[in-house]
Amino acid sequence: MKKVVKFGGSSLASAKQFKKVGDIIRADKSRRYVVPSAPGKRNKNDTKVTDMLYACYEAASTGASYGKLLSAIKERYEQIIDGLELNLNLDYEFKTIEENFIAKKGSDYAASRGEYLNGIIMSHYLGYEFIDAAEVIFFDENGTFLSEKTNEELSERLAHTERAVIPGFYGSNPDGTIHTFSRGGSDITGSIVARAIHADLYENWTDVSGFLVTDPRIVENPVPIETITYKELRELAYMGASVLHEDAIFPVRREGIPINIRNTNKPEDPGTLIVENTCRKPKYTITGIAGKTGFCSVTIEKAMMNSEIGFGRKVLGVFEDCGISFEHMPSGIDTMTIFVHQSEFEQHEQFVISNIHRAVQPDSIELESDLALIAVVGRGMKSTRGTAGRIFSALAHARINVKMIDQGSSELNIIIGVKNADFEAAVKAIYDIFITAEL
Ligand code: ASP
Repeated sequence: MKKVVKFGGSSLASAKQFKKVGDIIRADKSRRYVVPSAPGKRNKNDTKVTDMLYACYEAASTGASYGKLLSAIKERYEQIIDGLELNLNLDYEFKTIEENFIAKKGSDYAASRGEYLNGIIMSHYLGYEFIDAAEVIFFDENGTFLSEKTNEELSERLAHTERAVIPGFYGSNPDGTIHTFSRGGSDITGSIVARAIHADLYENWTDVSGFLVTDPRIVENPVPIETITYKELRELAYMGASVLHEDAIFPVRREGIPINIRNTNKPEDPGTLIVENTCRKPKYTITGIAGKTGFCSVTIEKAMMNSEIGFGRKVLGVFEDCGISFEHMPSGIDTMTIFVHQSEFEQHEQFVISNIHRAVQPDSIELESDLALIAVVGRGMKSTRGTAGRIFSALAHARINVKMIDQGSSELNIIIGVKNADFEAAVKAIYDIFITAEL
């Protein structure tokens, strides 16, 4: 058995957290490859080391005073080293970092030092080999991640390394300079390492016990999701649910490696398992509910629209010309509705209307703003009759008017449009009918 374990910033924010991580790793011999983030927040008002590094670099590279900021960063690491009673001194590393900041080595370089230094500490603490991600994770000159080159070199390197710490979040450009993934990118590094070693499992340790069925800011204490497929996760993530970086799915998905989201502060919780597929019956009919507010609908009506070949293409062409992407497009016999992000659409509104008139001569165009979209996602819906019926009766009972319904043919996802003002009440009503009622 080979496992890759990635630990998020809050799991490594202090010596106390590091000790929990050490216990987790030592409890299972197959946890052989460790991907740390930079130290995160120790409490609500704290600052992540990554953010401190960006701020410090900004000051140093523009000639402003940066000494205090750099000392505060050093202090964060020294507290961890002291708390773990390690015989390790980072003076040399900090001297190099300071020189490179003044030499303007770039904000990616600056941010990456958070993971780099945490990786050095972690390797000392565990007695594992340290592998600098710059030596094994590659980007091209445009900053595009080179998945195959990385996979080849990383596999080769790790084939000869029994246990290692590989810092998350960054790699190198062809000229040797440092490049980072987008924020939260250590999740991607973990996934890349899992692919390279053909891991049996990619454990992603964070500060929550997995994905929750819905947003805890809307529903109090929602239940966790036990098992979710990559596809379901993608649908929910797209609609705003977040725990894992979206791009972290791709490397492991190619190999069918499951991801287990776990809680460093509650290692006894099983967390959420993300899999390619499963024949395990889901506990509830639906897997998750996610949604977003701030949409606008454009409804175009024209008698006999259905017989006009090319109608849809011409309408969508108008949106394309303005660089507006559309979210959903339910259609009727003589109507077609396009859902767009209100903030993107507003500035182009009149241009869109006049150009649709020119392109397809509609009978009318109607706009409605302040709409929300809710995705009800679940592989269990396919085999269950009456899912849509239950959603709509729950919404009717909650006195919520449904503006739009869109179900993909995969039956994995039902999208419902409601007024922004009804958004939270709608999510609660759907949660209650499926989860509270099925508990
Ligand atoms: N430390 C980086 C960030 O704060 C990357 C990560 O934690 O995954 O975004």
